[in-house]
Amino acid sequence: MSRRDPKFVVQKHAATSLHYDFRLEIGGVMASWAVPKGPSTDPADKRLAMRVEDHSMSWNDFEGVIPEGTYGAGTVIVWDRGSFRNEGEGSLEEGLAEGHLRVWLEGEKLRGGWSLRRMKGQQKESWLLMKRRDEAADPSADPVTERPESVVSGKTIEELAT
Ligand code: MN
Repeated sequence: MSRRDPKFVVQKHAATSLHYDFRLEIGGVMASWAVPKGPSTDPADKRLAMRVEDHSMSWNDFEGVIPEGTYGAGTVIVWDRGSFRNEGEGSLEEGLAEGHLRVWLEGEKLRGGWSLRRMKGQQKESWLLMKRRDEAADPSADPVTERPESVVSGKTIEELAT
């Protein structure tokens, strides 16, 4: 029996403040976190990831300009995308509820093992996104600055906005 691997997408979003929307397909929707600094391939970095509302899978391909006066106004590019596998002990739904997800990403920029962990004692859902230590970890790389372009159009946020 074979099953389609779930999808992930990272959309770079120049809204009121720049952030990266990190989304994992869980239970037919895209569970989403806003990561202000974006993902780091250095396992020593813990990147703040604020859980935001689930998005429809139909949003995964969106890049363009969300008009002024609309929720999320600003420019969006598809910064990375691919599929992932659950490496947690339970289901993805259980991991989401328990505040600990372990996934293996197969994207165009991001690969390997990643963890998302909810911080305790926070009012809002504050999580940390971390690269795990494996062959895809690279403290010397910085994909956010080295590869700013869309994996769909090849354009940067600045190019798309003009
Ligand atoms: Mn956003």
